[in-house]
Amino acid sequence: MNEKGLGRKEIISILDQSKSQDFKYNRVLSSMCTYPHEIAVQAHMQFIESNMGDFGLFKGTYNLEKEVLSMLSNLLHHPDAVGYTTTGGTESNIQAIRSMRNVFLQRSKCEKPNLVVPDSAHFSFDKVSDILDVELRKASLDDNLRVSIDSVLSLIDENTIGLVGIAGSTEFGQVDPIKKLSEIAREKKIFLHIDAAFGGFVLPFLDESCEFDFMLPGVTSIAIDPHKMGLSTIPSGVLLFRSPDYLESLRADTPYLTVSTQYTLTGTRSGAAVAATYAVMKFMGKEGYRKTVSQCMELTRYLLSRLTEINIHPLVEPVMNVVALEVPEPDLIRSRLAKEYNWQVSITQNPHGLRLVIMPHVTIEMIDSFVQDLKQVLQTI
Ligand SMILES: *Cc1c(COP(=O)(O)O)cnc(C)c1O
Repeated sequence: MNEKGLGRKEIISILDQSKSQDFKYNRVLSSMCTYPHEIAVQAHMQFIESNMGDFGLFKGTYNLEKEVLSMLSNLLHHPDAVGYTTTGGTESNIQAIRSMRNVFLQRSKCEKPNLVVPDSAHFSFDKVSDILDVELRKASLDDNLRVSIDSVLSLIDENTIGLVGIAGSTEFGQVDPIKKLSEIAREKKIFLHIDAAFGGFVLPFLDESCEFDFMLPGVTSIAIDPHKMGLSTIPSGVLLFRSPDYLESLRADTPYLTVSTQYTLTGTRSGAAVAATYAVMKFMGKEGYRKTVSQCMELTRYLLSRLTEINIHPLVEPVMNVVALEVPEPDLIRSRLAKEYNWQVSITQNPHGLRLVIMPHVTIEMIDSFVQDLKQVLQTI
């Protein structure tokens, strides 16, 4: 660190320089994040010093958090759900499984607990397994890249603490057969966590309804990320539990704060992101999100029709604004699109393909120009 502070001008100039090296979202087709809504940014700035780790000091922000949780609990069909705002899907998944494990171990002795997840589960579950010392059992996918129920059933044993279903998989945007998973969870008396980190702000706003939430009685917890399709600022995730018992299993005593207990993984926690999420959800309303989702879906369909012209097809029919494409040599195409055309796209592992996410920052002009560039790359591969 420098001994003497730099001048304001100098720092701003360094920041500008650094910012210019960041990608602008207008070349990004790989990210599940986007520009936050301007009202979210404004709220974020207004609450910038607010610390939800010691919310006795920030009662106003705490009330906003209660409102956010209430809006999401209602959206996800269980007004009595309890939870808190996390830093995102990863923390929500860690805490959901930690609670599952704690409650399971309170009920029964078990040397080596395991968790059954779809093969398409987000990599955060590998972290979950490592941190919590829970064995991860990956169930295979069916032809539609949703988890195979037979495979799930074959992996469950007496040490299985629970199941995970994905409502909008990161790679393929597919929704697992959550109704069936819910039935299995009820029958086996185990937990069912739904990872709707991405899909939570998409599925409720699609024209076709999709059952993935607390409406299904076996679902015990849900992760949903306002900082993805919710258009809030980073870091905004939300974790909801069906019953307060599950949240209670995460309790820690906090003797020197204004509040005596904490259920969160992190201590100090952004109140700014809470205010941002409140502001954008209130501003958008269901109607606003329906409109955003419908625009993204329209562009997704447009992209697919343009790709058909150059004989490129999806690996699976998209449910949401996530598209996995069947192409020769996805890695090569990805790196050439980046090097020669300055596009950021992503790939899927199994099956191997090119992956695009049609976020709210994507425009029809971007798609037209992308398809043209992809065509060029394909012609010389
Ligand atoms: C993005 C995502 C996550 C991880 O969320 P972070 O906010 O990056 O921690 C987890 N699960 C799914 C399905 C996701 O799409």
